[in-house]
Parts: sequence; structure tokens; C-alpha cells
Amino acid sequence: MKSQYRVVVIGGGVVGCSVLYHLTKRGWIDVCLIERDELTSGSTWHAAGGFHTLNGDPNVAKLQEYTINLYREIEEASGQATGVHLTGGVMLVSNKERWDWLKMAHARNRYLGVATELISVAEAKKRFPIMDESRFIGAMWHPLEGHLDPSGTTHAYARAARNNGAEVVRKNRVVETHLRGDGTWDVITEQGTVHAEHVVNCGGLWGREVGRLAGLELPVLSMAHQYLITEEMPEVVAFNKQNGHEIVHCIDFDGELYMRQERTGMLVGTYEPNGEPWSPKVAPWDFSTELLPPDLDKIADNLARAFEHHPPLANAGIKNVIHGPFAFGPDGNPLIGPIRGLQNYWVAVGVMAGFSQGGGVGLALANWMVDGDPGFDVWAMDVARYGAFANMAYTNAKVIENYGRRFRITFPNEELPAARPLRTTPLYDRFKAMNACFGASFGLEQALWFAPKGKKPVEKVTFRRSNAFPIVGAECRAVRESAGLMEISGYAKYEITGTDAETWLSRMLANRMPPKGKLALTPMLNAAGKLIGDFTVAKAADDRFYIFGSGVAEQYHMRWFEAHLPADGRVSVRALSSGLCGLTVAGPMARNLMAKATGEDFSTAAMPFLSFREMDIGLVPAKVGRISFTGDLGYEIWVGNDYLLTLHDVLTRAGAEFGLAHFGGRALMSLRLEKNWGTWAREYRPIYGPYEAGLGRFVSLKKNDFNGRDGALREKEQGGKQALVTFCVDTKNVDVIGDEPIWHDGKVIGWVTSGGYAHWAQKSVAMGYVPKDIAGAESGFEIEIIGKRHAAHPQRQPLFDPDGARMRG
Ligand SMILES: Cc1cc2nc3c(=O)[nH]c(=O)nc-3n(C[C@H](O)[C@H](O)[C@H](O)COP(=O)(O)OP(=O)(O)OC[C@H]3O[C@@H](n4cnc5c(N)ncnc54)[C@H](O)[C@@H]3O)c2cc1C
Repeated sequence: MKSQYRVVVIGGGVVGCSVLYHLTKRGWIDVCLIERDELTSGSTWHAAGGFHTLNGDPNVAKLQEYTINLYREIEEASGQATGVHLTGGVMLVSNKERWDWLKMAHARNRYLGVATELISVAEAKKRFPIMDESRFIGAMWHPLEGHLDPSGTTHAYARAARNNGAEVVRKNRVVETHLRGDGTWDVITEQGTVHAEHVVNCGGLWGREVGRLAGLELPVLSMAHQYLITEEMPEVVAFNKQNGHEIVHCIDFDGELYMRQERTGMLVGTYEPNGEPWSPKVAPWDFSTELLPPDLDKIADNLARAFEHHPPLANAGIKNVIHGPFAFGPDGNPLIGPIRGLQNYWVAVGVMAGFSQGGGVGLALANWMVDGDPGFDVWAMDVARYGAFANMAYTNAKVIENYGRRFRITFPNEELPAARPLRTTPLYDRFKAMNACFGASFGLEQALWFAPKGKKPVEKVTFRRSNAFPIVGAECRAVRESAGLMEISGYAKYEITGTDAETWLSRMLANRMPPKGKLALTPMLNAAGKLIGDFTVAKAADDRFYIFGSGVAEQYHMRWFEAHLPADGRVSVRALSSGLCGLTVAGPMARNLMAKATGEDFSTAAMPFLSFREMDIGLVPAKVGRISFTGDLGYEIWVGNDYLLTLHDVLTRAGAEFGLAHFGGRALMSLRLEKNWGTWAREYRPIYGPYEAGLGRFVSLKKNDFNGRDGALREKEQGGKQALVTFCVDTKNVDVIGDEPIWHDGKVIGWVTSGGYAHWAQKSVAMGYVPKDIAGAESGFEIEIIGKRHAAHPQRQPLFDPDGARMRG
């Protein structure tokens, strides 16, 4: 081991070795992996070695596909066998909801290019002979499934990296990590101190503990998990003899089981509902290539289901039980990327499916370190999707919940209960008393809709329209016909101050900065000119600005802002978080309401569209912007959280005579569809450029140079690859959720980003990306919703207020 490297990777599991390999592939060869014990001695060695591309996020699914296709490459680069068996697999379903889910997963695979097939139970039985056909109603064939040798694969990554020049040091625990003043790191190991430009935490089972060495509390927890291997089964032997190949992989969703052939028997794994964390507070350093004692009682119910669904298993002897821990993030997806505020510190932890995801994680992280950008849309894996709210108690509750739901459906309108309520605003109790149905976002409780008096605010989970449909419809109509009030405290708000605030913002953001007392809408772009933010900026004073954006991206945006702040201290950025709360009032009577509440002139002449003022509303000092995501005449009002209840009193009192009604997040999402407006993390993501996303009018190529300008200019000149189109869809009782394929003239050409029912316009609406040369077509589009194709018609003009007369007037 040398005393200095460009990168030190901590942890020699499949993830660390993949990161190491990918760094060398990108030309960074002065890199060293430091492993506490032997390679694989965390969770990797005892994995079942299964892989597939299935993931709720299509971008993660793509990276899983990359991982699977990588195994041949690392075998060749290393000369080490990975033991890959690409058997393909069947996914079995027993009920209608899961069948709907499968149809949607299959449809999504169409645009991901994964050739899945929906097959009959009889066809599935031919490939997975031990199943009892009567238990199932359908299946999906998935060609990119299989299994491999976990140890061989990890060593293949490591050897390939070594062949490229990397070093691997074993039997050497990292005991401390210290950030130097210049942003480089001292890595103190049992064998001495190493100085490194970058540190990568791939600590797996100890990812949390390795994070603590740098003062971090990462939201990961390891869970104890079991699979068993049977003795030889005659059914397996007979199948192999008859067909000349092994039995395929199987996921039995309702059985909560995964299965595959292992030698002449079967491997059966299961996720039980009441999973147990392993070392919920501190993972012991002396745990290594050992297993936890078998505990079949814990999975007895699941095993009983396995025997019912797959009867030959009931007669098979158990040869081996593997019971070991592995680490999860709160939502089950990995946590990767740079850490806000810790220069050159990177993580790749909580990778719960190392053999499906490890390659993609390694690729994305290596790109990120070398280029400053992962090169893909990794939002679903980005460590910055969690903020300070994701402490150990939150993480543990969420990981346990997620573990038990591994094979369960999470419906698009489902709000999971663990770790709630956590963050609340002062209005929480009041809204609760008003019958609000809440959802949590970035840990914050937010009203989704308000149940009428006497009805419970409980939403039935479904892929179709729920019991909340008519209620949300009434909320939308109230906004469009009189006035609505909604809490918007969940938006992210940032305060930018300092003498250079404007100059800096104008380099960070793509639009011109507004004059004092005005708002401007602006995208934020990365170096490649792709969308990494979609903001409203307010200029309150020459040296004071506010930015309003998506609440879930607060950590993500703060990481970016802070990394780009000048060192001279002439600009500072602060996330105001729940310290600044907000209400919006919108609808034709909103102006009268505001005038009544303040006694001020709210005419368009006095307070035009996109103006921003600091003023009193009754007793409450507030910041008021004339803008509304409803697309209507409306105002956003920001106050310190200690004023929120009083502001609510003032506005509801003033609004009584104008028919003021409360509305929630669901209605807002419906209303914005009527304006063809996209949202962050759906329509606006780093895989799209501003012109593709229809935000070109908010990019000012004529002002000073700004981040991503060259890329934006190129996109403008070349027209981009794709275009965001809004459609009205011919449906009766179902709307898009997101990720449905868009067909044109019988071919899948694009995908839906979001949509739903536009209640005021009474249309089912979908937004999505299609290739730019097809985007202008007026006919021939269809959108596949739960297995059925519906005609879709481009809606070029907003359904509501197409010329903006109401919004601006
Ligand atoms: C029973 C079971 C079955 C599974 N089945 C599958 C499956 O079928 N398919 C699948 O994809 N995944 C499966 N998994 C999950 C899989 O094992 C993990 O996704 C994978 O191992 C994660 O790899 P990792 O490199 O992140 O972590 P780990 O394998 O835990 O590696 C972390 C490494 O870091 C080292 N380390 C930690 N701290 C330090 C330090 N301070 N200094 C130096 N070194 C340090 C450790 O010694 C360890 O080697 C299974 C897991 C279990 C428990």
C-alpha cells in the first residue's frame, strides 16, 4: 500500500469492487481498495446471487440491465469466471391487482427494450414445473433473469480493476477518516495512514459505521434475511433430464418468494412481513464470514405458502439454511453520490441487490467522480433524496416497512404509514381536524385532499380512480370558480444573500434575474445543459433573493449550490426549510380576498403577474408573489412558521364571503395539467434539456454566460432528441400514473412522465416525451394503460386559460 492515492475505496464487497473497476475503466488508475478482511466478507459472500432488471424506477431498471450485460465483459477482462446462468425467469401472480401491475411492468419494458412476455399459467408451468397452476392467474416471462457466483463475480471485478492498474489491500480496516483543509482526505488504516484526494464509502454492512468515521449518519440499516437450499428433488432431476436445461428463476409475488435451481435441488428465499434488523444501532466489527443461526420459525408462514404454491417443496429435505444480513436504504434503492458539505466524499451504500445493481452503481459513481456528473438519471438512487429528517429512527422504521413489503404492491395513491407523522407544520392539527388526508414528502406531512364532514379521510388504494376522485374534483372546481387555499410549506425555499448574489445567481440559473420586486421562472442546468432544477426566483433587495422549488430536491439543490459557491464569502445560500411556511390562494376571487385581508390595492396595475412584495397581511409580515401553480389568478404567501396559524385565520376570515375552499396536493396536480405544466422529477429531470421540456422560453442565451449554456445552445440549434407533449386520452375510468408507453402508428415511441384527470376541463391528461420528429404529428398516438391502448390526442394549447388572460389579468 502506498501512502497516497487519487481514490481510496473502502470496502471489498461486490459494490466496492465494481466502483474500483469502473474508475480504472474511466482512466483513474491511481486507486486503491481497502478491505477490512477478505473480499466478499460482508454481505456479498452469502448472497443467493440472483439478478433481474425489475425496479419501480425505469432509470434504475436500465442500470440493472447494464449490470447484467456486464458480466461477460468482466469475465474477459479478468479471466475469472462469474458463474453466470442467464436462465430467464417467470413472475407468477395470483390476483387481479398484481396482474394489472404486471401488465404495467410489461408495458414499461416495451420502451426500456426488455423483451418480457405475458404468458399463461400453463406456459409458466412448462418452465417452472413445481408450481401448482391452480394458485395463479398469469405470469410474465423475463429473459434477463438468472444467477451467478457472488464470490467469483466480486473477484472478477477486482481482478479486472487490478489488471487496469488498481491496487487491492486486504486485512486492513479503515479506522478513521479525516477531511483536510484542502478538501483531501487522510484515511487512517490498521496498516498506516493514506492520503487520498477522494474517499468512497462502499462499506456495505458497515456503510453506516464507515460514514460515522466522517461524522455522517447515513440512512441505511441491515436486515437479517434467509434462504434455504433443498436436498435433491426428483422433480428437478426429471425436468433437467427431459429438457436439457435447468429450471428457470421464479418470483412468486403472493407467496413472497424467490426461487431458482441450485444443483439438483431448489433455492427458496423469502421476505417475511416482520423482518428483523441486524445490529439496529451499531454493526460489530468482528462479524465476518459467518452466518446467523437459522430461524425457520420466523419464516414459517411464508414457508407454508411456499409448500401450498409449490407442492414438491413440501417433500424436499432442507440441506442448508443461509441466514445473513444485508443493508437497505429507506425506500429499498441504493444511496449513491457525493455528500453535501463533505468535499470529495462519495458513497455507494444500501445496495440491496448488488448483483442486479452493482455494475450500474459502479458506472454511475465513476462517471460522477470523473466527469462531475453520473451521466444518467440517478435521482432514484441519489443519496441527496434524503435530508436530515432521515435519522436512525426514521431509517430503521422505513427499512423494516420496506423489507416486509418487498414483494407487495405500492399503489400510486398509497401513502405508507411507517415513521409518520415526522415533520409537521403548525397547520397539521388544524387540517387534521378539517378531515385532511395526508401524504408525506421529504418527511413532511402535507394535505392531499379534505374529506367532507362525516366521512373518513381514507383513500382506497388502486391503480384506477379512487374514492377521492369526486372530492378532488370538487376542490378543483372551487379553485376555478371562486377561490381555493392550499398550504405550500412543502416547497423548498432558499435565501441567497450577499453583494455578489445576483451575479452568482445569474451564472447558476438559465434565465435573466428579475428586477427588484419581481419574480422570474428559470431552469437550472448542469454542465451538459440538462435540467437539474426548475425554480421561481424572487428579488427582494439588491443583495437578497429567494428561490422556490421542489421540496424533495432540497438536499440535492443545496449540494449543488454549496459546491458552486465562491470561496470569498460574498454570497451565501440558506435552505429556509420549515422555518418559512406558505399558503397559496388561487382562483377568480383570489384578488378580492387578498385586498380584503390586507386593505391594499391588489389590482393588476398595483400587483401585476410575477410581482413580489414584502408586506403585512393583517398582523402578519409576509412575502407575497403573484404566481400560482394552479395556472389561475393566484398568490403565494410566505411567512415565518410562527405566523402560519395567524395567516390562515386572516385568509379564511377574509375568504368566507368569496366562497373560499381548501384544496390539497392532489387538486394542485390536476389543475397544473390544464396548463400543460410539468413538475420536477417527472417532466423535468437531468435526462432532458430545457428545449425538449418546453422550458426554452425561460432560457436566456443572450445574457451573461451561465452553467450549461453551451449545451442549451447546442440543443436549441439542433432541436434536441425528443419533445414533451401533453395529450388528452380517451379513457372512461382510468388515467395514466406515469411510465406508460406512448405508441404511434403501432410502435412504442415514447413514455408518459405524469398525468391524471383534469377535473375542471373534464379530460384525462397525460404528459410524456416522444421523438422530436414525431412530436408534431396530430394523430396516430395511443397510450397503453393497464394493458389497453387508448387513443391520445396532442393538446397543444392549455385546456384552461390558453392565452393566460386569467393568470395575468
Ligand atoms: C441471504 C442473502 C441473500 C441475498 N441474495 C441476493 C441475491 O440473490 N441477489 C442480489 O443481487 N443480492 C442479494 N443479496 C444482497 C447482496 O448480498 C448485497 O446487495 C451485496 O452484498 C452488497 O454488497 P456491498 O459491497 O455493498 O456490501 P458488503 O458485501 O457488505 O461489502 C462491504 C465490504 O466493506 C468492508 N468494510 C466495511 N467497513 C470497512 C472498513 N472500515 N475498512 C475496510 N473495509 C471495510 C467489509 O468487510 C465488506 O467486505 C443477498 C443478501 C443476503 C444476506
